[in-house]
Amino acid sequence: MADFSGKNVLVLGGSRGIGAAIVRRFASGGAKVAFTYVGSKDASDALAAETGAEAIRTDSADRDALIATVAGRGALDVLVVNAGALVLGDPLTLDADAIDRMIDVNVRAPYHAAVEAARQMNPDGRIIVIGSTNGDRMPFAGGAAYALTKSAMQGMVRGLARDFGDRRITVNSVQPGPTDSDMNPSDGPMAATMHSFMAIKRHIHTDEIAEYTAFLAGPHGAMITGSLQTIDGGFGA
Ligand code: NDP
Repeated sequence: MADFSGKNVLVLGGSRGIGAAIVRRFASGGAKVAFTYVGSKDASDALAAETGAEAIRTDSADRDALIATVAGRGALDVLVVNAGALVLGDPLTLDADAIDRMIDVNVRAPYHAAVEAARQMNPDGRIIVIGSTNGDRMPFAGGAAYALTKSAMQGMVRGLARDFGDRRITVNSVQPGPTDSDMNPSDGPMAATMHSFMAIKRHIHTDEIAEYTAFLAGPHGAMITGSLQTIDGGFGA
């Protein structure tokens, strides 16, 4: 288990689900952890009390506030951009503002946060965005805009890996498949459909995503960069 003692870690979108599991993983590894949230104050306060992490209310869709929060953490060792929105439905009737907000949170925010973090980041730093297997495969109707956002992340990590490689900063995407969270509950209406696309037919546990993220952030991840790390039970196979 990687040890993160003394490491300065920021998790964007850490109050619930995958992000909360990532906060717990780094905190239990000894890191100084801060995380952002937007709506879930009670869950954030409880997670902060449980882990010793610092909860900061910052809407990833507010670019200036996001940049200020990232800059305010000083020289980071690890940035995890987990905050994400999911808007599914018929593209002919979906609300255009909801689509644009999803693009703000899933595409613009990871880019601006990653660039801001890199300004002060320590050598051997790690930038990890939580993408999705849907960046590679969208096997059902209604997911075009979501898939668009997660595919956009793929180009970003490849490019930023080139930009920051001379400082030994790695940039990668973790691409989960169906993972048990409020966004995609294992007992929800989409569960059976999700499992039909998977080689191993169960939801992924949030701590499985967190442990994979920790591996990338740890010493053995030093030469993994510009890559898409898929953990999806064979959803994209
Ligand atoms: P949840 O909806 O369960 O949790 C989302 C988290 O992101 C919450 O902590 C939420 O904060 C935060 N967040 C959302 N929008 C913002 C925002 N504008 N500003 C700051 N924080 C925000 O989602 P999951 O845990 O399931 O998903 C996490 C990531 O993993 C997302 O990027 C998602 O696309 C990706 N993913 C998830 C999969 C799944 O099956 N669950 C599969 C593939 C990828 P708050 O509580 O305050 O609202």
